[in-house]
Amino acid sequence: MLNTPDVEALAQRISVINPSCGQILREFECACAAEVQHTLIRAREAQAAWQQTLVRQRLSVIKKFQRLLNERKQQIAGTITSEAGKPYVEALLTEILVVLDTCRFLLDESYAFLREQPVPHGSMTTKLKRGRLLREPHGVIGIISPWNYPFSIPSTETLAALVTGNAVVLKPSELTPLSALELASLLHDAGVPQDVFQVVIGAGATGAALIESGIDKLIFTGSVATGKRIAQLAAARLLPVVLELGGKNPMVVLDDADIEVASSGAVWAAFINAGQACLSVERCYVHRGIYERFVSTCAEKTKQLRVGDGMDPEVDVGPLIHERQIRIIEQHIEDACARGARVVAGGGRLRSLGPNFFAPTVLADVSHEMRVMREETFGPVLPIMAFDSEAEAVRLANDTDYGLSASVWTRDGVRGELLARQIRAGAVMVNDAVSCFGISEAPHGGIKESGIGRTHGRFGLEEMVRVKYLDSDLVAGVKKPWWYGYGRQVADAAEGFLDFQFARGIIRRLRGGMRSSPLVTRRKL
Ligand code: NAD
Repeated sequence: MLNTPDVEALAQRISVINPSCGQILREFECACAAEVQHTLIRAREAQAAWQQTLVRQRLSVIKKFQRLLNERKQQIAGTITSEAGKPYVEALLTEILVVLDTCRFLLDESYAFLREQPVPHGSMTTKLKRGRLLREPHGVIGIISPWNYPFSIPSTETLAALVTGNAVVLKPSELTPLSALELASLLHDAGVPQDVFQVVIGAGATGAALIESGIDKLIFTGSVATGKRIAQLAAARLLPVVLELGGKNPMVVLDDADIEVASSGAVWAAFINAGQACLSVERCYVHRGIYERFVSTCAEKTKQLRVGDGMDPEVDVGPLIHERQIRIIEQHIEDACARGARVVAGGGRLRSLGPNFFAPTVLADVSHEMRVMREETFGPVLPIMAFDSEAEAVRLANDTDYGLSASVWTRDGVRGELLARQIRAGAVMVNDAVSCFGISEAPHGGIKESGIGRTHGRFGLEEMVRVKYLDSDLVAGVKKPWWYGYGRQVADAAEGFLDFQFARGIIRRLRGGMRSSPLVTRRKL
């Protein structure tokens, strides 16, 4: 993380590096606080007009964006792979497809979402009023995004913000700004005004300047440590925030699971994007009756994975984003082995490929005392632990500071869902993992240290708007029974009115009703 104050002070320039080969792709000056401030001012001016456009016009821009993205998918997937390292197929399926489908979702749902919504009144005191909910944009939304999904994360958030009438200032990760620039050129070519969507490039200091600039809401995705710091900055300004943070996602494999299917699922969901996915399987619990077979099948499949440059179509697993990430992985593996874990596949660097490559690793006989089962590893490591009962599996799955996602694997769907309901996480999948991020209707977000708020789906749209309650009185020429002109008689009538609605027994209620009539007939100020 380039975000300690000392590093920030030095980080005036950033280099974007291909993690497969170390080649410098581009260099940038970091945006300073004054530049961020100007960006905000331009965004605020432009937002006023953008908010006034018809939803239909904004949706036609989204439609054009979707078409352009599909046409340029090869170029954009290439950019993602070159700066983030993931295999080209993953860039297509976990980034570009997710964004194309988000457009589909917004085209299907935004009209209904933004239509004003009646609020029927249940209380008889307010029957003669008409209430409605209006969903209005916040204004300028700041988005700070990470490097691991450099296109899909900022794009899905940006599209939801724009369709609801906000302007956006995006601060992408300093490691992967090129994907954000691709997003900007797609949006501008599709018809989003230049100042309605802007990108500011820089490290943590630029992100902090964005928070201080006067934005109306922040959508932050990144680590727990940065998220906590940002929450403090935001609290001082009462700035509303969504925090999408890390995960330590458990996978629970029950005794009736299909070992062949569940092991393939475990290997894919642990090593996708070289394990650098917030939703990736970070710990696996398997019933003791099938434990050894499950472990050996995972080890066998892991050894068949081809590691290398993500642009090579034959590659399954690409490099880590940088060497610092590898040191964390090594520390977790060393700590686990010192406490009795067994490495059954991988376990070390693949130096012949380059400094950022690490062999996909399966660890057996792990326990909850090990760092690899408690801290986010964010690398290609699949630690597998045995359990004896479902209750124990639930206890272990919930024994964590995180709560982003989880999965349960079983041939019995009902049993799987019963167990899923007991796991405390933002999303629990039965017989799959990770893919909920690609379900545009599904809310994405965590509980506990995994964050606050949601992106994606209807709940993600709700985060982009302020709800305003609008109320019109239907008998505007009449003074209200609760207005001034109080006195003993009014107090008695008020007691009667409460009895009329809430007293026990019909007689008491009728009596209350008779006592209450002065509320209406009395003289009011
Ligand atoms: P990070 O916290 O280091 O950085 C995230 C972003 O915050 C970057 O753009 C960075 O420049 C910026 N930043 C850093 N310090 C800042 C500061 N003081 N003020 C403002 N902005 C600042 O995270 P990362 O290493 O880029 O991403 C990996 C982490 O993100 C992992 O923990 C992963 O689990 C998490 N993540 C979560 C989700 C999710 O949806 N929950 C998705 C992807 C990644």
